[in-house]
Amino acid sequence: MSIKKYDAIVMGSGMGGLTVAALLAKKGLKTLLLEKEKQVGGYVVSFKRDGVTCDATGAFVGGCQEGGDFYHLLKEIGAQEEIEFIPVHHIQNIYPGFKVLLHQGGFDSYMEALLNLFPEEEKGLKAYLSLVKQIGQEVKSYAEMTRIKKVLFPFYFRHLVRFHKSTHKLILDHLFRGGEIKMALHTLPATEPPSRLSFLFVATLISKALMEGVFYPKGGMGKISEAIATSFCRHGGEIALQKEAERILVRGRRIEGVLTKEGTLFESPLVVSDINPNHLAKMLPLEFQKPLAKKRRGFEYSLSCFILYIATDCDLISLDLPYFTYLRFLSDLEEEDQMMRRGEIPNHPTMIVSIPTLLDSALAPPNQHFVKVLVNVPYRYQEAWGKGDPEKYRRIKEDFSQKILHQLEIKFIPGLRNHLLFYEAATPLTLERYTGNEVGAMYGLASTPQQIGNLRPSYQTPLPGLFQVGHYTRPSHGIVGASLSGLFAARMILQKPHRV
Ligand SMILES: Cc1cc2nc3c(=O)[nH]c(=O)nc-3n(C[C@H](O)[C@H](O)[C@H](O)COP(=O)(O)OP(=O)(O)OC[C@H]3O[C@@H](n4cnc5c(N)ncnc54)[C@H](O)[C@@H]3O)c2cc1C
Repeated sequence: MSIKKYDAIVMGSGMGGLTVAALLAKKGLKTLLLEKEKQVGGYVVSFKRDGVTCDATGAFVGGCQEGGDFYHLLKEIGAQEEIEFIPVHHIQNIYPGFKVLLHQGGFDSYMEALLNLFPEEEKGLKAYLSLVKQIGQEVKSYAEMTRIKKVLFPFYFRHLVRFHKSTHKLILDHLFRGGEIKMALHTLPATEPPSRLSFLFVATLISKALMEGVFYPKGGMGKISEAIATSFCRHGGEIALQKEAERILVRGRRIEGVLTKEGTLFESPLVVSDINPNHLAKMLPLEFQKPLAKKRRGFEYSLSCFILYIATDCDLISLDLPYFTYLRFLSDLEEEDQMMRRGEIPNHPTMIVSIPTLLDSALAPPNQHFVKVLVNVPYRYQEAWGKGDPEKYRRIKEDFSQKILHQLEIKFIPGLRNHLLFYEAATPLTLERYTGNEVGAMYGLASTPQQIGNLRPSYQTPLPGLFQVGHYTRPSHGIVGASLSGLFAARMILQKPHRV
């Protein structure tokens, strides 16, 4: 049997894995990307049903225009020409008793939308957005760290130092009186309530979204992964699909390669993992599992979700709906989280609805639409979704799908159930099975003050030659966050001492 040798092996083709693989290949390293599924992308994939392109998970990505983080990243990978982005101009957030319509237009437009609704909160809102802006600038400046800034850190990064332990709740309670504006400001792509979400994370996210905008890739979310994979292959990279990495071979403290589940051995002195850190630890010989386990002790995962994929021939254009709608029914921002931690789901859970065909009609046959509904749910719901009993699982899934369809029809798309072409659902178990993210964690590690930025695991592991990327590492979760982990890890690997 001939054993294939590589300069680098990347295990897992999520955004972190794809990015690091593409950058290593571009620098001339003979690189192999191992993926256990039939396609690359991890969470960022699309699939086809009856001629309709369905996005498996996400709804948008930030910073795709010149000047944005993702634009530069794709350019560095050489994938920027492979993909076209559509700006998302309108978003609507519907809460109990009021709604916020947001138009892409930076800080001023965001301030105006909120001031129209909450004129009495002007002072707090100005202070809040000023903080967000300053934190955003410090984070940007942190990425271009110089020696002098390092030495004078507390001077250059006053806000990062001051707020590193602050939760969003602390800031909201300090600056605002009313509950409604707090609810509006806590409408974010994170699964933690205000009492547990890091304010630095919130400020970074809001400032980036307002400064750099959000976008949808033409052809569906999966196009992002396809574009990076195309660039990787163009630079000589090799992709092995349906190859599950099972063991990392180590001699002394030197990495020797990866053994797959069906017994193929790939040799390399350098392995990068884009998979859950618990799974990674189990792939190592016993003596190396402990140091890795020590590093990840106490880390907390983000929550999971239920996703309903719907195709309909309702005339959604005449309903004048925006691409993205956040629908919240509960007023108490902590209640839903507390229920989920007990393994329960509220009667009227928050729903996030996106309709990609409103941005790109080619995703479905004429007069048809793809609607995706995302609901945060606990992994432990009904004893882990009737795990082990397929009939029970099917029933729980169907009951929950019906509940969402019912709410969607009442609140959002009248007559929907008479115009269904198909619907299909994914549970936390589906997410876990397809991507290896334990408990179906949507965003890897939760973004609490203890788990942001440099407090997240580094790319380097205790074993020289073994690196990790993805949304369990620095700097954060999300498509851009996980991609940046791949960029930073590639830079670290390509520095002299690690060079293979
Ligand atoms: C429902 C949902 C909605 C989201 N919405 C957005 C959004 O709108 N915008 C945004 O920016 N982010 C969004 N995110 C978050 C974002 O998608 C993730 O944070 C990011 O894509 C994670 O990338 P990753 O590199 O960590 O890899 P993952 O996506 O976790 O992929 C890991 C890969 O490794 C593979 N793998 C696992 N084990 C093995 C093995 N043993 N051998 C080989 N391969 C293996 C898996 O099959 C998978 O392909 C969303 C996530 C979810 C779940």
